[in-house]
Amino acid sequence: MVTTRTTCAYCGVGCGILATPRGGRVVEIAGDPDHPANRGRLCSKGTHLGETVGLEGRLLHPMVGDRRVGWDRAVDLVARRFRETIARHGPDSVAFYVSGQLLTEDYYVANKLMKGFIGSANIDTNSRLCMSSAVAGHLRAFGEDIVPASYDDLDVADLIVLVGSNTAWCHPVVYQRIMAARAARGTRLVVIDPRRTETAEEADLHLPLRPGSDVALMNGLLAWCRAEGIVDANFLADSVAVPEGFWEGLDQGCDLWSTARACDLAPADLRRFFELFAAHPRTVTLFSQGINQSLRGTDQVNAIVNLHLATGRIGKPGAAPFSITGQPNAMGGREVGGLASTLAAHMDFAPDNVARVGRFWAAANMATKPGLKAVDLFRSVREGRIKALWIMATNPAVSMPDAGMVREALAACPFVVVSDVIADTDTGRFAHVRLPAAGWGEKDGTVTNSERMISRQRPILSLPGEARPDWWIVTQVARRMGWASAFAFDRPADIWREHARLTAYQNDGRRLLDLRSAAAISNAAYDTLAPFRWGGDAFADGWFPTPDGRARLVSVAQARLGDPLRDWPMTLNTGRYRDHWHTMTRTGLSPKLSRHREEPLAELHPQDLAVLGIAEGDIVRVATPQGASLFRARSSEGQRPGEVFVPIHWTDRQASGGRAGLLPRDLTDPHSGQPGFKATPARVEKVALGWRGFLITRGDAPVFPPALWTTRVTVPGGALYELAGEGDAVALEACLPRGQRIEAVDRARGGWRVAILAEDRLAAVLFVTATGELPDRDWLIAQLDAAQVGPALLAGRAPGARVDRGAVVCVCYDVGLRTIIAAIADQSLADVAAIGQALGAGTNCGSCRPALARILAETRATLPEKRHAAE
Ligand code: SF4
Repeated sequence: MVTTRTTCAYCGVGCGILATPRGGRVVEIAGDPDHPANRGRLCSKGTHLGETVGLEGRLLHPMVGDRRVGWDRAVDLVARRFRETIARHGPDSVAFYVSGQLLTEDYYVANKLMKGFIGSANIDTNSRLCMSSAVAGHLRAFGEDIVPASYDDLDVADLIVLVGSNTAWCHPVVYQRIMAARAARGTRLVVIDPRRTETAEEADLHLPLRPGSDVALMNGLLAWCRAEGIVDANFLADSVAVPEGFWEGLDQGCDLWSTARACDLAPADLRRFFELFAAHPRTVTLFSQGINQSLRGTDQVNAIVNLHLATGRIGKPGAAPFSITGQPNAMGGREVGGLASTLAAHMDFAPDNVARVGRFWAAANMATKPGLKAVDLFRSVREGRIKALWIMATNPAVSMPDAGMVREALAACPFVVVSDVIADTDTGRFAHVRLPAAGWGEKDGTVTNSERMISRQRPILSLPGEARPDWWIVTQVARRMGWASAFAFDRPADIWREHARLTAYQNDGRRLLDLRSAAAISNAAYDTLAPFRWGGDAFADGWFPTPDGRARLVSVAQARLGDPLRDWPMTLNTGRYRDHWHTMTRTGLSPKLSRHREEPLAELHPQDLAVLGIAEGDIVRVATPQGASLFRARSSEGQRPGEVFVPIHWTDRQASGGRAGLLPRDLTDPHSGQPGFKATPARVEKVALGWRGFLITRGDAPVFPPALWTTRVTVPGGALYELAGEGDAVALEACLPRGQRIEAVDRARGGWRVAILAEDRLAAVLFVTATGELPDRDWLIAQLDAAQVGPALLAGRAPGARVDRGAVVCVCYDVGLRTIIAAIADQSLADVAAIGQALGAGTNCGSCRPALARILAETRATLPEKRHAAE
């Protein structure tokens, strides 16, 4: 079998992958040792990509409503409805909502169609939710959206500051690179995050600042640097424009004591951070969604960039502000202009740029002004101004803030098209037309990672059913709308060449994005294109792509942080889990990835749990003025009191609760249009329950279990549902398959246990209790695979069977929490390497090493003293 070099489907680290098909839809995955981004490393998500390429749940044919149609009919209909809508209501009555999951070539043709031929800029992307504040901050400071850093900088920095980034979970391979640098060079690490995450556990210093106080922190540090003589006067004089009153603005309220008060930090910790910063000129400040997803995201970005510009820590090895992106091709989308606020190839809507791009495209119908950003776009759909919407490779009914409003908008929209790989998504349920798109492993094109490195994604598997690449679907519609010659692309390489030529077109060196060296490559050269990083060591010469060649300091002031509201006294923060990706349409297919976190948890500080009368494991309602959803409560010392954290991943397809998208406000940063997901006023309350239970089924349940709390995860051979409800649990009968029935009822404790056998194998077990205990799930799950089921099914455990391994920590070797704790205690394991030797945990992808370190510390802290002494 031929091994193909390709790129991971998930985060913006952009890891290279060696993929080897093993027949059918089986693909063996390994890290590419020659890819500069990861040098052979992969995290848990990348390692288990092979488990997500099956055809389960795939959309395989074009669908109009519930009717399967041919491609001709589907794209004819899409083209006709868009044409008619534009003819009747104008170009701004239609919109595309696209995704950082698209390849650059897909993005390019969608952007060209909307901005050059339809004549509107109403194309925005889910990257708006992810990093548009970084884009706006870069434009204000540098004149162009340039990330002035690479992963190599992490190897040579002396100090790495992680701001609003749970790197260990969200960008694990970058995190491992940071850990390797620490081991090799003693690189100092500071983590600035309201939560004490696994990333923070490893840091020299963790600053759990008040949410939204980042500008105060960075301004305080800059004021301190100036007072200590650490600003780089020469660099400022040569390369930076300082606006009038900039330094005076820092003279007020930015002293160490005021800063500590504003950020709710201990002054001694703040001073330690300032001194670390002063002592290490080679500083990388890496930031992510904690900075970007804020109503002041752009100012927060500029506060960080100001610091680096003023101290000359930019354009030098190991010294840079570094925005790391969430999605695999958010950067490619930025390069082609896939945001409504940019035009194409890093050009904006200045009249000469519009004319230039119009000439290049030979477009008679150029958009002349920015379009609607994501939140405004969906608001416009709801208000009836947008009447035809095409959504590609994203699930806004789940992921947008105030997602209830988005659902209303989709329900009211006269024509919704969804291109996706998955047949049944929360968004797809609103579609009039669903178009089957190619998935990872079938796509062919390029992506750009967080450090500006362009890599190829190559096909490994043949296209299933009638699925087609997104670029092909868009060009088919464009041709039918009357623009055949402008969209006469036969292959991704054709699109790549045009995109690269546009970056070079009339580019006199003032736009750093210039791919002319790769603009004339042959099809064969495109096929074998090796990863390359455009823009080189940006800003190393002190020149910036502004009219006068200087970067800009931007005056930013800390916004007032209000007191908690009486009715909404808590602050809600949202984010990712280690092993899941966005709305789980792919990672949810993997039994291994599903076991790290099986349910959506609301993490609260123990003090808050006590005050609210909530016990760990209770079901709680998290409510905001926008909506409410249920979560399982979890106690976390890492939370600041008064704050609650929930994950973003759960949808109606996997759970009756856990819908984080319903909760945040649809308010946005005034510069970037990025919503603030990180600090929503909220309330948390316990939900009274009558019973708890679980259901394990071979394959899936015939009916999604009707209960107040239902969450589903994939397990080997089937699905596990955790359940809780009020009243009588009898409605769960509907989700049991047919077969031979073994049943026990315990009326005293409200207990009900049912096992269903079909062809002598276990088809389902349902356990319900009102007051009793429930058995662990692992043994019962294993019975799905057993050739013969034992008599102990209704006991939930074979006589003498070992206790469950507990929540899975290491997904690669399937090692659970209880197993690790027992091994640490019984074998006196003293470090993470020893755990690896004993259990294998942490020795493959390494994503669980931060968790192992934490478990080790917590377990050893509870061991009897004499045991330590004996070691
Ligand atoms: S860090 Fe993990 S998810 Fe991100 S690109 Fe690498 S393997 Fe994929």
